[in-house]
Amino acid sequence: MELQDSIRVVKNIGEARAKQLNKLGIETVEDLVEYFPRTYEDRSNIVALDNIAVGEVNSFKARAERPESLRVRNMTIVKARLTDGRGFIEGVWYNQPYIKNILTQHREYVFTGKINEKYGRIQIENPDFEPLKEDSLNTGRIVPVYTVPAKMSQKTIRGCVKDALEGIDGEAEEFLPDGIIKERSLCSRRYAVNNIHFPESDEGFFKARRRLVFEELLMLQLHLLQLKGNVTGRKSSIRIRDYDVRPILDALGFKLTAAQENVIGELFADLRKGTVMNRLIQGDVGSGKTAVAMVLAYIIIKNGYQAVLMAPTDVLAVQHYKSISQIFEPLGIKCALLTSGIRGREKKGVLSDIAEGRGQMIIGTHALIQDSVEYRNPGLVITDEQHRFGVRQRESLAKKGNDPHVLVMTATPIPRTLALILYGDLDISIIDALPPGRQKTDTFAVDHSYYKRLYAFVEKEVAKGRQAYIICPMIEENDKMELRSVLTYTQELKNSIFPKLSVECIHGKMKDDEKQDIMERFAKGEIDVLVSTTVIEVGINVPNATLMIIENAERFGLSALHQLRGRVGRGSEKSYCVLVSDAKNKTSLERLKTMCRTNDGFVISEKDLELRGPGDFFGTRQHGLPEMKIANLYKDIDILKEAQETAINLYKTDENLQKKENKLLKTRILQLFERKIKKICL
Ligand code: ADP
Ligand code: MG
Repeated sequence: MELQDSIRVVKNIGEARAKQLNKLGIETVEDLVEYFPRTYEDRSNIVALDNIAVGEVNSFKARAERPESLRVRNMTIVKARLTDGRGFIEGVWYNQPYIKNILTQHREYVFTGKINEKYGRIQIENPDFEPLKEDSLNTGRIVPVYTVPAKMSQKTIRGCVKDALEGIDGEAEEFLPDGIIKERSLCSRRYAVNNIHFPESDEGFFKARRRLVFEELLMLQLHLLQLKGNVTGRKSSIRIRDYDVRPILDALGFKLTAAQENVIGELFADLRKGTVMNRLIQGDVGSGKTAVAMVLAYIIIKNGYQAVLMAPTDVLAVQHYKSISQIFEPLGIKCALLTSGIRGREKKGVLSDIAEGRGQMIIGTHALIQDSVEYRNPGLVITDEQHRFGVRQRESLAKKGNDPHVLVMTATPIPRTLALILYGDLDISIIDALPPGRQKTDTFAVDHSYYKRLYAFVEKEVAKGRQAYIICPMIEENDKMELRSVLTYTQELKNSIFPKLSVECIHGKMKDDEKQDIMERFAKGEIDVLVSTTVIEVGINVPNATLMIIENAERFGLSALHQLRGRVGRGSEKSYCVLVSDAKNKTSLERLKTMCRTNDGFVISEKDLELRGPGDFFGTRQHGLPEMKIANLYKDIDILKEAQETAINLYKTDENLQKKENKLLKTRILQLFERKIKKICL
């Protein structure tokens, strides 16, 4: 029997069974062998009945004496006295009258179930049981439990898997090089495959699982490294001698949090190592990533290099430019801004400033990676809100110079496990605390019947001198119908609902300078209520805004809601976020509930991952991950780290896996990802 044979070659698999298995995606013998159990039941420890643990699941051998069937109200209850000669217990089955007959067919059975004590009697309710046999697949051992189609029993699939394992005896060929197996103390593949289905012992299971998780994650990591073609550790030509941060710290005007200081420590350690920095900073909205980036940029610039910061939108780039130049210019650092809105003579001037080094801190959008932009000597490139940029863009910015250091900032916290995978070639730093004095944004979920009260709430906040956002989601920023309804709604707010307030609308179809103008007026406090589609999703900083109302909140994913909410609660005043939704489905409600319960971006992204599954964590964005067969991205973080280390070492010593000892591994990766490749595109 060969691994690639159809499952029809397996003993006892006929056409009907094959069809059922096909539905689970099992077509070849290999698929079946790698159809790992969903969970296990430990039936290995057979206890004597005088030694049974009440309140726990026990397995025991017993005879069923005097099975009887009773009718109580509308229920049929089967009862039997189960005894092994050392003790006895009462077995009870509800609404399964046929049990009575089954129980009389054999002398002895193995029973498994939870033991209860009721009215002073020891009982077992609805236990599983099987006749006692030598060498059983289903009792007296740790038994696998599979996801099966409705018409197939666990016993059947266990049998199929066992037959397949016996059929391929020895074919579960080792494909990891010896060196890796030794280095990571892994068991052989054959042992792993046998024990993952039918564990000899707890230990056997753990060994098997560790090995299979490791190989799955190793292959994924190697594949991603190959896609990215980039590993950290290249020598850097950038020389940093002066690490004096006093001037920039004084200029910032606040004390850095311990979390920020730690990350700066990690950044400086990178600089001192003499290799090219490739680092991702994850930090919740408002955690102060920009301040950290500024400290690093300051040091780079003070040592004679340029620093470049790329933001995803014009509005954000301008905001960064304003806040950064305010601090840098008094320190004698020249800042330059380049966005798509800057054209003609002005653009020429900026380009020559950049090329000749008069621009030291360079801030902009995608415009920064155009061919026409030449830099004098960039020592650092920073991309803000990385999830908006593809790896390619990040790289093309880095390629503009002579291997500058690369710093990536993201406010979409990604569970660490996923970050390790997605940014497999980046080191990760986390800012895990907010600056002091921030208050939790109180969040409520309401339905549309609350409108009157919401409008009163807006008026109350504005009367206190605060400002509000009203977010109207649009499925596509250029959907004309939806845009019209947002504009109509704005008119209504302006004219009849808040006639005394200043209400404006900002949306994706506006020209950049119009958007800019509105944002500036909002920042200055000239606009009380800003109606917005999602263009403000990232980065906007208006600390006086304390109320956000999100219409049709069910249309957003959790991460997007969290990003939006991050626009309030940025000052010292108490802030509020109201999620308006009439949605009734479970996932939507769960999302809204999560938002009301926590402000912690990492908790939210874990939940997001749980609700969506890793496959579509990034939705329609450019990132996608293949489904994992056995690895659990939440729990297997330690193995993931080991796999990543091994992958990087392998990649460094044998980039294309051409060495003899790596050949089988390479074939295996190709096979695996040929099928899945359509799902991954980084
Ligand atoms: P992020 O980019 O992580 O969302 P920012 O860097 O924009 O956060 O910082 C948010 C706000 O917090 C800014 O107004 C910034 O000046 C302020 N801030 C940053 N660090 C501190 C700190 N340590 N203490 C007080 N305020 C801070
Ligand atoms: Mg930011």
